[in-house]
Amino acid sequence: MRIIFIGPPGAGKGTQAGKIVDSYKLAHLSTGDMLRAATAAKTEIGLLAEKFMLNGQFVPDDVIIGIISERLNSSDCKSGFLLDGFPRTLPQAAALDELLQKNKTPLNIVLELKVPDDELLRRLAERGRADDKPDVIKNRLKVYNEQTAPLLQYYEKQSLLKSIDGQGNINEIFNRIKETLDKFI
Ligand code: AMP
Repeated sequence: MRIIFIGPPGAGKGTQAGKIVDSYKLAHLSTGDMLRAATAAKTEIGLLAEKFMLNGQFVPDDVIIGIISERLNSSDCKSGFLLDGFPRTLPQAAALDELLQKNKTPLNIVLELKVPDDELLRRLAERGRADDKPDVIKNRLKVYNEQTAPLLQYYEKQSLLKSIDGQGNINEIFNRIKETLDKFI
């Protein structure tokens, strides 16, 4: 199964992504995790990305597309993957379409995790990551609404979008996701 997982910062995407990849034996492709690892390792890309991440801005499309296109060629992606945090812009989505078409590995589903803004702000305030400071949080939500939300329409048009209610406890939400994904097996 090839899945894109979309949701605003603080929606609980990381937690649910972990449960999905364990349950369905998928490669977990989180661009945020890849960038944080690159930053910790002080690689050239990591140091460049850090400046954007700490301000709640997106890392440039060409950098992200380069990372993902390399990662998608790994052997562990052959039996399916979950894209977590990618694509986040329309140019990223177009580049992904092109890559997947070339590899003859079309997407099966785009899952949107939906959580109201007031709940997101509450959860992000509790998390305390380096990019979870109040003004950075506000910027990340703004950037999500401006740049990532248009992807929902993009995938709706391709009849790939399924929206999941992201409110409730971790297992309730995971059960909703499973109900949706099980229809694709
Ligand atoms: P995340 O862990 O998915 O919340 O990502 C943390 C930060 O990494 C984001 O706020 C962006 O600065 C950067 N990032 C992760 N994925 C992408 C992407 N697909 N495009 C641009 N920036 C990204």
